[in-house]
Amino acid sequence: MTIFSKIIAGEIPSYKCAESDKFYAFLDINPLAQGHTLVVPKHEVDYIFDLSDEELADMVVFAKKVALAIQRAFPCRKVGMAVLGLEVNHAHIHLVPLQSEGDMDFRKPKLQLDADTMKQTADKILAEFER
Ligand code: AMP
Repeated sequence: MTIFSKIIAGEIPSYKCAESDKFYAFLDINPLAQGHTLVVPKHEVDYIFDLSDEELADMVVFAKKVALAIQRAFPCRKVGMAVLGLEVNHAHIHLVPLQSEGDMDFRKPKLQLDADTMKQTADKILAEFER
């Protein structure tokens, strides 16, 4: 079971931003920017391009809804989308609010946001997602 499956099962806490029957979205614990969110399929698959065409298409449509919620909650120029998957072997899409190109640089030092700020950030995105 991956760490993300444990999060989906509620065995490990997360800052939930959105959920559907097939997908779950939560804040990245080491954010590049406030509102940096991960979208994962509940179905445990390592590599995103091992998902079926239908699952991948559904995941991108779900990620679009989450991205629009992020942008309403945290106004930004664009929401960037990236797939790395080098650390956690459970397919996921990174959604990062962007003001400039450098905001998507995964090598830069991550933000340190306290638990209250993380909770408020996730709740704001969730409220926009459910709007
Ligand atoms: P990668 O697999 O390279 O896309 O990186 C995995 C991402 O998951 C990193 O940005 C981590 O900060 C993030 N991450 C790892 N564990 C957790 C967790 N328990 N909760 C939220 N984000 C996590």
